[in-house]
Amino acid sequence: MNEPGAQLAVRDTCRACGGRNLHLFLNLGEVPLANAFLTSEQLHEPEPRFPLQVYFCQDCWLVQLMHVVSPEILFSNYLYRTGTNATIIRHNNALAQSVVRELELGAKDLVVEIASNDGSLLGAFRESGVRTLGVEPATNIAALAREAGIDTINEFFDAPLAARIIKEHGAASAVLANNVLAHVDATTDFLAACAALLKPSGRVIIEAPYLAEMLERFEYDTIYHEHLCYFAVRPLLRLFERAGLELERVDRVEIHGGSLRLWGRPTTGAGHGAQVQEMAEQEKQAGFGELGTYRVFAEHVARNREQLLEMLGGFHAAGKTVAGYGAPAKGNTLLCYCGVDTSLLPWTVDRSPLKIGMFTPGSHIPVYPAERLLAEPPDYVVILAWNFAKEIMDYLQPCRERGTRFVLPIPEPRVI
Ligand SMILES: [Zn+2]
Repeated sequence: MNEPGAQLAVRDTCRACGGRNLHLFLNLGEVPLANAFLTSEQLHEPEPRFPLQVYFCQDCWLVQLMHVVSPEILFSNYLYRTGTNATIIRHNNALAQSVVRELELGAKDLVVEIASNDGSLLGAFRESGVRTLGVEPATNIAALAREAGIDTINEFFDAPLAARIIKEHGAASAVLANNVLAHVDATTDFLAACAALLKPSGRVIIEAPYLAEMLERFEYDTIYHEHLCYFAVRPLLRLFERAGLELERVDRVEIHGGSLRLWGRPTTGAGHGAQVQEMAEQEKQAGFGELGTYRVFAEHVARNREQLLEMLGGFHAAGKTVAGYGAPAKGNTLLCYCGVDTSLLPWTVDRSPLKIGMFTPGSHIPVYPAERLLAEPPDYVVILAWNFAKEIMDYLQPCRERGTRFVLPIPEPRVI
């Protein structure tokens, strides 16, 4: 981990259109990887940092990072588990029911999930009686899925693996890929491999955070090295076409601060759905094709940093006690970019056993079990996992009754 150069590639073409008309509009500095939590021993070792810079393609409007950290480093030993969070479990159950109903899936149908994490979504499908298969590159997380009885291939997904799956299991009626498309550098190849895995009547169903939400709610902390793309519908049309898919429909879903659920089918010649084309037109009206829109966003990001430091500095000066809730990857972008350390946020908590006892990358804030907040309610709790704010505030109701107040850092820092 001492030679960042060897772990970093810098691309010079757009992932969606291949063009070079790329403009840097937001520079979040040199920051450690958002999931590179540290043990107490590692606190004293050099910490690799990588540029976190966001570009806009003037030709196809894709917003993306050009610095690509090796996926082996990012994803082989992963700390994010989907099955630990009540909101995601509810979301997964609803998604599985919706797909089974809409595609009329039965016992003979195969559902493949790419980046299947701990198997919790496939578990929801299994209850409907369909055949399931997961593909998950993180060895530690794939092992959890297998323990739960979900057949899982512990590899990165690509075209050769798609061919092998067809040979061994048959073609899929549905290929799901949630929160992984933005992680992939070769976006078109990945989508084409998903398409190759499908029966002619099959569908690829993909969820990815929606750029519109990021822009409207100033969710800049969702930017980190794992997220190479920030998707809007219009550049997705280009990507799907190049991968041999038509975008049949797009749903907006609440998860992860606001996401798109994309329903793609192998190209029929009918073209993208009318509703999809309408969304792309709305994006044009909203200024998604103009560099100025992104420059305004970047100005707001700088203001968010000033406001957060002013608020936390004020708490510190007044002798107030402060702790965090959550140690999400997004929290690390926020803390590192804003320069928040243990002087302003002495500790945080998380529900993931994989993070408890570790320290946040860059800011070196210790992560304790969530129960500690109930035992020691501080004056203020900064909710770093703001996308689960309601669930968290419900859990912390006993703290609120003892006088604790909550801080939401996004879209602008505020006490509620
Ligand atoms: Zn482009």
